[in-house]
Amino acid sequence: MHNMKTLRKQMMTLLSDNEMSAREISAAVGIGEKEVYGHLSHIARSIKSQGKKLVIHPSECMGCGYVFEKRKRFTRPGRCPICKSEHIKHPFYRIQ
Ligand SMILES: [Zn+2]
Repeated sequence: MHNMKTLRKQMMTLLSDNEMSAREISAAVGIGEKEVYGHLSHIARSIKSQGKKLVIHPSECMGCGYVFEKRKRFTRPGRCPICKSEHIKHPFYRIQ
């Protein structure tokens, strides 16, 4: 069981230096990919007071190139609304 504060701090340090996908974050800090999303939304809220923000490099459809720019959720979309392809690139996150 990880200490939450330490874990989030570790994620914040990583994301300040690199643009990473949830999968990369999960591998780097040793938690499940699904858990990463919960921590990301917590981090997004807590860094606001420091004048920083969590920037999402949006998911992109590999079928037609559609970019999910307006998506607010951190998870990868399941399907493209345009061409219905399920081959969607994972979003990347970074702290700026
Ligand atoms: Zn598409």
